[in-house]
Formats: sequence, structure tokens, C-alpha cells
Amino acid sequence: MTSKLHLYNTLTRKKELFEPINPPFVGLYACGPTVYGDAHLGHARQAITFDVLFRYLQYLDYRVRYVRNITDVGHLEDDADEGEDKILKKARLESLEPMEVVQHYMNRYHINMASLNVLPPSIEPRASGHIIEQQELIGKIMEAGYAYEVKGSVYFDVVAYNKKHPYGQLSGRKVEDLLSNTRALEGQSEKKNGIDFALWKKADPSHLMRWSSRWGEGYPGWHLECSAMSTKYLGMQFDIHGGGLDLLFPHHECEIAQNVAGYGKASVRYWMHNNMITINGQKMGRSLGNFITLDELFEGNHKMLEQSYGPMVIRFFILQAHYRSTLDFSNEALQASEKGLMRLMNALDTLKNIQASPSSSVDVETLARRCENAMEDDMNTAKLVGHLLSGIPQINKLSEGKETISDQDLEKLKALYHSWVFSVLGLEPPVSTDKDEEITGALMEMILQLRNQAKTNRDFETADRIRNELSRLGITVKDRKDGADWEIN
Ligand code: ZN
Repeated sequence: MTSKLHLYNTLTRKKELFEPINPPFVGLYACGPTVYGDAHLGHARQAITFDVLFRYLQYLDYRVRYVRNITDVGHLEDDADEGEDKILKKARLESLEPMEVVQHYMNRYHINMASLNVLPPSIEPRASGHIIEQQELIGKIMEAGYAYEVKGSVYFDVVAYNKKHPYGQLSGRKVEDLLSNTRALEGQSEKKNGIDFALWKKADPSHLMRWSSRWGEGYPGWHLECSAMSTKYLGMQFDIHGGGLDLLFPHHECEIAQNVAGYGKASVRYWMHNNMITINGQKMGRSLGNFITLDELFEGNHKMLEQSYGPMVIRFFILQAHYRSTLDFSNEALQASEKGLMRLMNALDTLKNIQASPSSSVDVETLARRCENAMEDDMNTAKLVGHLLSGIPQINKLSEGKETISDQDLEKLKALYHSWVFSVLGLEPPVSTDKDEEITGALMEMILQLRNQAKTNRDFETADRIRNELSRLGITVKDRKDGADWEIN
């Protein structure tokens, strides 16, 4: 399989030709949500980015195993090693079992993702279901001499590790700088160095989520689950690891260190990070009051929203930017996306009814190549969408008879739009509502009555014109003895 796909590798900071370790198989891992609250635009962007990659790799005929985890234990407030577990905090505030919180928000996440037409991953492992694997990895890291136990907790020794293996390659951070930044914390903590991170934390008596271990009762550190679960399902070395830029440090940096320390080698070939979403130019945050959940967007139920936005509008909005660019949310931007999406879907409808001619006056090949090139260049969905939109005037001219297209080119054009729009970008045609169908039914009845009237008046010219115009819109009229039937092709 010869692919021309180039992906930007965060680790090497350049675009590299994508060559899977074991073609045609591709191992893809992306960090999933910590399920303690409703999903927001940031979750949508990350999930859609790697969903499109998952779809696109399959479009290129790879056999992809896509693992996206659920974090249901060990992710503490502020991504730190001290403080309350995010899920436990929610459970305490709402008087629920921690696993009730997990189940509730996981179900809601799945509903949101299904609305956005994000495909389910091949495997969706949960951290709490892989405690043994995580404990085994800690054992390996300790054996290698890169972790130490203090009072029932185990920490990764970044300084010892950095003597043999460079720490900070992914984020470009230097251990010396990190040490001087964290020096103030020393003494207050049981860690040897401020930059060490927890692999296992001792559970204090009130901590609800706890497992027994050779270090006593406790729970795993947040970074550990992704190392343990990616290795379990994708092997010691796999192709692509993805996540949001906010996970790059410390989460992914720590993952690399854990893998190298425990298994003796770095596991990931290509690191990919999607950029963040800002809201009217500002970072999104619960404390800033600009935190909009997906449900609020779908329902238009937030003080910053001028209207509701359908899931496909959100998806299209996200795909109109390259995944490595920042993306700024605003009502105007989403309204523009809504219009763009409608134009694209209308063009696809128009395309259905175009008739082929003996020869083509249009060039389908160039458009096809441009689309391929855009995606091969680090999955540039923004350019792809641009090319798909740029083809619309041509589709309209074909429909108006101002251009011609051969049978073969027409099939190619239809296949092109279908595979990019539906299969790879994962957009869905708008679902017609009962109301739409009611109106269409009433209008058709009226039109057919007028046509019948014309026939009764022996005005066959008008009757034929109505039938031909309807046919051009993809509606077939079949005459019966007492009227006519119609159907949408
Ligand atoms: Zn992760």
C-alpha cells in the first residue's frame, strides 16, 4: 500500500510520511474524557478530529483498531497529584456513588457523540477496569529503578529517569527549568523532586475508590492508565497516539516516560494533537462563564447563544478549521457554518438529479486530486471543505444545463462528494421532520390538482411542463385513472 499521507508529528515537530508499523493494520489511541461533567466544544473537537482520522484511514484501506479510553478514576483536580479526584468530588456534591457519576456522564457522552456522528471506537477501555495492568506496569518501572515508594504512594523519579533518557522531548520542556519552577513545593510534598509524578496514591480512610496493592490500599495516578491500556490493546509499539493540546504536558509526556521506563522503549510512532477552542477569543473555562456544553448548543440554552445549533453544524464548524489551528467560537462563525453546510447539502441533492450527456465540459479529475491532496497534507479538512464548496457552482451549472458531464464523470463526481462528505467527514444529510413531510404532501397535492385541471382543460402543454419540472426536482409523477401518484427518487 503506497500512501501519500503526511501527518504532523508533535514529537519531531515536522510532517512525516505515514508508514504504519504493520500495514495494513493501524493502531490508533486517543485519550477520551474524564467523565465527571457534560461534554463541551473541546470534547467535540477532540473526538471529531480523531473520528475523521479513524474514518480517513479506513477510506485509505487500512484496518484500524481505534482505542479511546474513559477515565473514571485517578484524575485529580487541576491535573495535579494532590487534591480531590474529579469524580469523587462530583459524587460527594451530588450524594451519588462514584460509579453512578461515571455511568451517568459516560452515557451522556455517548449520546452526544452519536448526535455528532462520531463513530464508536473499536475498544473503549476504562481505567478502573485495568487496575491490575497498571499495578504491573508500576512494578516494572520500580524494578528498572525509576520509581520509589513513600508511605504507601509510588512516584515516578523524573530526575533519575532523565539521567538515562531525555524527559520533556514531546513538550520541549527542560528538566532543569521544571525543577527550578517546582522547587518552592519541595518540603511540603513527600516527593523527592517537585516534578516527580504519582503512579499510585495511598487512599486516605475516606477515599471511596480504592484497590488493594502491595503498597497498601490506593488508586492509580492519572497518566498511568493510558500507558497500560494502549500497551494492552495495541502492543508495545503502535502507530498513532492522539489527544488535545491540553494533554501534551504533563499527561502525554509522562506517558512516554512510563513506557520507556517500564517497557524499555517509546511506544508511539506519531503523536498528534488537536488545538483548542476559544470562545469569542477567550479561553473556555467554567469560572469565566463561557463554558457551553454540547446539550446547551443543541438546545440554544445558554446566555451567549443567539440560537440553537444542530450537531451537524457543530461538526461542520469544527471541520472547517485544520485540527492544528485554534478555532474561535462565535455566533457569527456558527451561523456562517450553518449556511455553508446547507449549501453543501443542497448541492448534493442537486447532484442526484443531474443527467449525463455524451461528453463532459467539466473537469472532475482536478477536483478529485485537490481533495486527495488536502487530506494527504496532514488531514487538512479545512482545505477539503473549501474544495468541496468550490465545486458547487459547477454542480449548479450542470443542473441548469449550462455545462455537460459524461456518465463516467458523473459517477465519479457523485462518488467523490459521497465519500468525502459522508464517509470521511462524517456529515449527515439533514433529517426531514414530520412538519416538512406534511408541507411537501400538501404542496404536491395542490400541484397535482392544478395539473389535473390543466388536463381537463386540454392544456397539455402546462400539464407536461409541471411533470417535467417535477422530474427535474427528482419527483416522478405516475398518472392513474383518477389522478396521479408521485414519489421522490
Ligand atoms: Zn490519556
